[in-house]
Amino acid sequence: MKDCPRLFAAPATQPPMHDDAVVELTPGHAHYLGTVLRMGAGDEVALFNARDGEWRAGIEAIRRDRGQVRVRRQTRPAEPVVGPVLLFAPLKRDATDLVIRMGTELGVRRFLPVLTERTNTHRVNGARLAGIAVEAAEQCERLDVPEVDDPLPLVDRLAAWPKGRRLFVAAERPAQRDGTAEIEAGCNEGGGIDGACDGDGLLVGPEGGFSAAEVALLRSRPFVTMISLGPRILRADTAVACGLSLMGAGFRRASGAGSR
Ligand code: SAM
Repeated sequence: MKDCPRLFAAPATQPPMHDDAVVELTPGHAHYLGTVLRMGAGDEVALFNARDGEWRAGIEAIRRDRGQVRVRRQTRPAEPVVGPVLLFAPLKRDATDLVIRMGTELGVRRFLPVLTERTNTHRVNGARLAGIAVEAAEQCERLDVPEVDDPLPLVDRLAAWPKGRRLFVAAERPAQRDGTAEIEAGCNEGGGIDGACDGDGLLVGPEGGFSAAEVALLRSRPFVTMISLGPRILRADTAVACGLSLMGAGFRRASGAGSR
């Protein structure tokens, strides 16, 4: 039950939280609390970030775009950041927004936009997307906020791929997957992507799909596993939600974690 607004206190700009600390609100948060929600002195909010966990705090004062809260007590301890990284080809504006929002809700720890041959949008507004990730984290009750990197060509992303991590590539046509290690995600026992581990990646292509050369490039990398998300051709944003759910299910089963 959501009983008070949750606000992300960016650790880069905030000293560590502790009992009785006074925290300066950002102009955006002060406006939201004071003008939109009409809250005032004495009302309670929750402040969170991955470093400090989550804390209840009481509003001391709010005036237009300025305000302070006083930290009262910790309600959740800090947690290690876990989850997959998502590689995606930037889409039209609304679809990219959806990818960031759904990806944050589904536990993505970092977004890595990739430029492919058929990517139709080569620029992303990093600050706007970071704001969407913050709002989604506030709403879905996670403690950390995933970062959104600048776009990089696919070949450079692959060259920088970290050792020991797997990359699951969503490939919609059987011919793209044929002859390599591949997974019929969701068709295996128990559902989910078998073997998905914390820090592994999911790559979803642009609306136009991957070119034949890109498929060959991907299949030549030993850390790549091509996966099917089922018999239907999904829109890229739908494929992101589907692939992340299946990765999460596989990871939770492998680690014996609960469903939170
Ligand atoms: N234009 C492509 C075609 O007709 O073959 C379809 C591309 S699809 C709209 C966009 C991306 O979503 C694909 O590059 C792939 O990564 C992913 N995708 C969609 N459906 C999928 C499926 N059934 N299995 C795996 N990946 C899928």
